This record gives sequence, structure tokens and C-alpha cells, in this order.
Amino acid sequence: PLPDAAADARVRSDDRSHVFHSWSAQAAIDPLPVAAGRGSTFWDYDGNAYLDFSSQLVNLNLGHQHPDLVAAIQQQAGRLSTIQPAMANDVRGELARLISEVAPDGFEKVFFTNGGAEANEYAVRMARQSTGRRKVLSMYRSYHGSTSTAISLTGDPRRWANDTADAGAVRFFGPYLYRSPFHAETPEQEAERALAHLEQTIQLEGPQTIAAIIIETVVGTNGVLVPPPGYLPGVRALCDRYGIVYIADEVMVGFGRLGEWFGIDAFGAQPDLLTFAKGVNSGYVPLGGVVISDRIARAFDTMPFAGGLTYSGHPLACAAGVATFEVFRRDGILERVRDLGERVVEPTLRSWVERHPSVGEVRGRGLFWAVELVRDAETREPLVPFNAAGADAAPMVAFATAARRAGVWPFTHFNRVHVAPPLVIEEEELRRGLGVIDEALAVADEVAAG
Ligand code: PLP
Repeated sequence: PLPDAAADARVRSDDRSHVFHSWSAQAAIDPLPVAAGRGSTFWDYDGNAYLDFSSQLVNLNLGHQHPDLVAAIQQQAGRLSTIQPAMANDVRGELARLISEVAPDGFEKVFFTNGGAEANEYAVRMARQSTGRRKVLSMYRSYHGSTSTAISLTGDPRRWANDTADAGAVRFFGPYLYRSPFHAETPEQEAERALAHLEQTIQLEGPQTIAAIIIETVVGTNGVLVPPPGYLPGVRALCDRYGIVYIADEVMVGFGRLGEWFGIDAFGAQPDLLTFAKGVNSGYVPLGGVVISDRIARAFDTMPFAGGLTYSGHPLACAAGVATFEVFRRDGILERVRDLGERVVEPTLRSWVERHPSVGEVRGRGLFWAVELVRDAETREPLVPFNAAGADAAPMVAFATAARRAGVWPFTHFNRVHVAPPLVIEEEELRRGLGVIDEALAVADEVAAG
């Protein structure tokens, strides 16, 4: 798109005057007006192109304006734009079947929501209703969404102002070897000690009071924390021992981010409920849901489920979901995620640990990686403090600004840069974007060295 100063001014003005934004002091923000998007790139009204290394909010798995998704939505809009959830609908049923076919064995049913928070909200409701218990355990360093139960389960600062929303939420420490809360030195120790800590938490809280444990299969926004081998199977075993429902939150990692349909496939564990959103249709039309194991589904064969949404299984959203399956299969999306992750991203990021004094650790899988920035590789002191704002956050802001000036839109959170481009990114784009991040890290290196 050509630069258009008048449109830029108009979009800015309407936005600043009338749009109330998420998570922000309204007077403190300056949202970028976006003119267009295609594939892995979007443009502002000054004509600047940005390679999107965060897939918007890690949802744009098939990139902007994918022709198959656009056509599916257009065709569905021409056929039947909406229908209420108590009626049966062809694309809704087809998408539910396609999802159950790639879900773990014994998951046949899907409850559709409008997004990720609602998916977790309803998964918890199913767990509570089917067990008759109330408490839910979740991790520190987690994000589960912003509705009242989902934000109560969230283990990051976004919960702080919402702490009283759901009294049944209890938090525990998950594995995080680089900053081990268990003083572990190997992945095996970390898994074993994290499981012992979880079991102790269960015992101290009273197993018979706990409905569910909810875990992001790979913790997303809070650090791309890949669970050590044995951890998730160990969680499964604890849930079996104490009659607790295991909810896998796959809102960020489901639908290909890790090179699998669902992330859980890589870790040898089976949850009871699995939540998804984002990648199911790249966010073209809001959609999320809960995939339900037969054991839980059976409880609701005779007991009515106490929940519903006007737009559950919206046909426009489901049509984009069905098209997503077709594109993934035809274009070998899972295979290319694994290939690009292993052949391009992993070796490039590992080389940064050697070359950049500010890079403490890199970790990830598929097209989902974190680069943890530190002031000192020995002490592991983070480049900016936990939850840094204002002047404290300056080095991360400087890094992100340098990357944007060079045409890459990065995902940063606290002292980390995440690499999470669309799964359709071309290899040349991926290498170019990684080159930009590499150069922008000079800003962080100066802080680390000084
Ligand atoms: N769960 C996880 C792991 C997420 O990353 C997110 C969003 O980033 C959510 C839940 C909430 O999803 P939504 O914003 O669609 O409500």
C-alpha cells in the first residue's frame, strides 16, 4: 500500500478518541495504525513493512489474507451467516469431527466458544460440574485468559488487579530449569522435584476439594517454558491418583505452533480436557473451544451441561476452521514447522548464546522460541526486572524499537524476546527476520556489557 498521511491521521484520531484498549492506561498508548496485511507482513500508513515475528498475538498461524480462509468465509457468508447453537449445522459438525480426529484417542466431542479465555472458563466449569469439587490448581508464570475464572487462574501480573474474581484458584510452581525454584541442575531433577511439589500442594489443599489442574502444555507468554521429559506424564499420574481433571491449555500452542496438531502429542501425556482457540482459524473470525475426553463427555450424557453461548460454533468461524485443516494437510504445514524449527531457528538461536553476552538461554520447539536476555550470563540477572515498566523497561523498549526500525515486529515480554512467526513464513523471510533480531541484540549487549 502507498503512504497515506490523511488515512493515518483519521485512523489515529478515531482510535484515540473512541477505542478503549485492553490492558492499558488509555492516555499512555499510541497504537500503530495498520493499513494492510498479507502473508507474514503488515504495513502501516507510512508505507513501512513489518515482518510479523509474533503472528499478531500468536494466532495468525496461516498469515494475513490467506486466500483459502478468505474464500471459505465468503462462501459461508453467502450460504448461511449464522445459526443458533441448539440447531445442527454442517460446518460446525464438520469442524468438530476434524478436531476430534486429530485430538488424542478417546476425545470425540467439542464445545465451541468465542476464544481462549472462554474455552478455559468452560473447561473448568465441566471439571467442577463433573467432579462436584471446586478448587483449580494452576501455575505461577501462566496465562489463561481474562474472563473472571480464567484471570483468577492466571499466574502473571495481569491477575493482580483481579485477584478476588474466583476464590477456588490455587497456584503452584511449574518446571523452569533456567530459573529453577527447586534448585535442580538437570531436566530429570527439575521434573521430579516439580512433581513432588505439585503432589505436596495437592495434599495440603485437600485432594477431595480439587476439581482440576490446568497447564499450558508449553507455557506461552510467560516464557516458552518447555516441560522437561516426564513432567506432563507425571501430572497425568497425579490426576489419576487423586481423581483430578487434567486440563491442557493449548490456546497458544494448538494447531501447529510446535509442529504437532496439539502440543500434548509431543510430551506423551493425555489430558481430560483440551482447550484451543487462536490457530484453529488464525483468528479470522473469533473461535475457541474445549475438546472433551469420552470419560468427561459421558458424565454429561444424562446430566445437563450448565453453560452456553449465543455464538457457540459460529458458521463463519467454523468455515475458516475447516479451511485451516485443508491448508494444513495440502501444504504440509506441520512438516514445514518442524523443518524450519530444527533446521533454521534452533541452530541460529543457539549460536546467539555464544555470540551475544546478553543472551542467557534460548528454548523452544517448532516455530515457538524464547530468547532470555540477561545482564550477566553467570548470575543470570534478567536484562530488566520482573514486570518492569517505565525507565526499568528501557533496554527492552530500545531493543524492540531497533527491530521495528529494521522491519521486524518482535514479541517481547519482561526480559524475553519470543520468535513466533506465522507458520507459512518463507524461509528467506525467516532468515531475514532472525538477522534483524540478531543485529538488534547489540542494544541488549551494550547493557549486558556495561
Ligand atoms: N490461554 C493461553 C495459553 C493464551 O495464550 C491465551 C491468550 O493469549 C488465552 C488462554 C486467552 O485467549 P483469548 O485472548 O482468546 O481469550
